[in-house]
Amino acid sequence: MAQKNILDNIISLAKRRGFVFQSSEIYGGLNGCWDYGPLGVELLRNIKESWWKHMTYRDNIEGVDAAILMHPRTWEASGHVQQFSDPMIDNKTSKARHRADNLIEDYIERLRKKGKTHEADALEQRLSEAVEPIDYYNIIVDAEIPDPVSGTTDWTDVRNFNLMFKTFIGPLEETSAVVYLRPETAQGIFVNFKNVMESARQKVPFGIAQIGKAFRNEINTKNFLFRTREFEQMEMQYFVKPGTEEQEFDYWREQRWNWFLELGMKPESLKLKPHEKLAHYAKAAVDIEYLFPFGWGEVEGIHSRTNHDLSRHTEFSGKKLEWVDTASGERFVPYVIETSVGASRSFMAFLCNAYDEETVTDENGKAETRTVLRFHPKLAPVSAAIFPLVNKDGMPDVAEALYRDLQKHFKVQYDDKGAVGRRYRRQDEIGTPYCITIDGQSVADQTVTIRERDSMQQIRIEISNVKSYLLERLA
Ligand code: ATP
Repeated sequence: MAQKNILDNIISLAKRRGFVFQSSEIYGGLNGCWDYGPLGVELLRNIKESWWKHMTYRDNIEGVDAAILMHPRTWEASGHVQQFSDPMIDNKTSKARHRADNLIEDYIERLRKKGKTHEADALEQRLSEAVEPIDYYNIIVDAEIPDPVSGTTDWTDVRNFNLMFKTFIGPLEETSAVVYLRPETAQGIFVNFKNVMESARQKVPFGIAQIGKAFRNEINTKNFLFRTREFEQMEMQYFVKPGTEEQEFDYWREQRWNWFLELGMKPESLKLKPHEKLAHYAKAAVDIEYLFPFGWGEVEGIHSRTNHDLSRHTEFSGKKLEWVDTASGERFVPYVIETSVGASRSFMAFLCNAYDEETVTDENGKAETRTVLRFHPKLAPVSAAIFPLVNKDGMPDVAEALYRDLQKHFKVQYDDKGAVGRRYRRQDEIGTPYCITIDGQSVADQTVTIRERDSMQQIRIEISNVKSYLLERLA
C-alpha cells in the first residue's frame, strides 16, 4: 500500500479508536495542536514511564519537573531570544507561507524523484557550503524554486520569525512583563544544576532528567504529530568532567538507540544521522531518525555541548555553576551530554512502527484484512482483554471476577459483545497483546485460554496463573 495511504489509515484509526483527536475539534480545530484520547493517553504515559525508568532508575540520574514559565533572562542566556528563529517566506500568488530551508530541501527531494540528480546535487552543495546567516532568498530565486501551491516563483523577502510563544505576567501587557512558554525543557535543568547536585549530593558525572511540555510557534505544522506547536519532550543532561565527553557521548548514543530497539522498533526503520554542521560550541551531535510513512525524520538528538550552557547561565545570572571537589580542590565547569527526544514525536513513531495490515482467514475460512497494532506489550494501552465466550452458564461470573482482580494491576477491558472473532479484531486494532477467554471448560476446571495478538496462538492456563503470566510479560 502507498505510504501516503498508510499515514491516512493510521490517522483515521487514531481518531476512530480514541488515540488522538484534533484539538478543539468542535470549533474547527486549532492548527498544530492535538488531544490524546483514552487510548492515546495510556500509550503516551507508557512511553514516558518507560523512558523515565530507563533514564532515572540508575545511581546518578535525578529527575526534576521545572515550571514552564521561567525568568526571561533564561532565554537570553540560552540564545533563544536572539537566535531561535526560522526563515519564513511567502508566495505572493498563493499567499502560502513556508519555512525557507524546508522549501529548498523539499524541492531537492522533488528533483531527485524526477531523476534530476545533477540539479539536486548542485543545490544541495550550495546549501551545505552556505555560511550563517544563510541567504535563503537568493538560493530560492537563483534555483527558480516554484511554490508547491501556485507553481509561481514570485516570492516575498525572507524574514526571520522567532518561534517562542510570548505572554505576560500580571495584568499589564508591557515589555517588562514578557515571559515565554518554554521552547524546550533543557533550560529548566541547567538552571537547577546546583540545586540538584547539592540537594541530592551528586558528584560529577551525574545527570538530570525531565519530561514536560514545550511550545514552538512553528511556521508550518505538518505530518500529524511530527511537527506540532505544543508537544512533550523527554530530556536528560549529563554533566561530565571535560576530557571524558567523547566516551560519554558514545555511551549515551548507544543507550538511547537500544531503548528504541528494546521497545520493539524495527532496526531497519531507525538510523543514526550525524550532524554535518555543528554549533560553534558543540563537539558532536547525532540524530536518531525514524522512517515515517512520509520519509526519515528526527525523533531524538544526542549532543555533546561542552560547558556552553552552564557558562552562559553563569555569565547571565552571576551565579557560579561549577563542580568543586572538596577533597582534591579540583574545580571545573562540567561539560554536558544531552539526550533530547520528543514524547509526542516518538508516540507517532511507535504508532507507525506498530501499524500493520495482514490478510488472515476467519473462522469460516474466508479471507479478511486484519488491522493490528503490534505494540511492545509494555507500551500497549490495554494490557489484556477478558471475554466470556457466551453470556450464560456461569461464564460471566468467572470472567468478571478475573477482570476485577486483574484491574487492580493492569489496564484491562471487558468485552462480551458479539462473536469472539469480532472481539479479537477490536483488540488487535488497538494493540492489546493478550485476550483471555472464559469458556464452558473454565467454569468446570478453572482454566482459561490466552490468545497472543501477533501469533494468534492460544494456550490454556489456570486462572490462578493469569496474573503472573501477565506480570512476567509486562513488568
Ligand atoms: P526539527 O529540526 O525537527 O525542528 P529540532 O532539531 O529543532 O527539530 P530539537 O530542538 O533538537 O529539535 O528538539 C528535540 C526533540 O524534540 C526532537 O528530536 C523532536 O523529537 C522533538 N520536537 C522538536 N520540535 C518539535 C515539534 N514542533 N513537534 C513535535 N516534536 C518536536
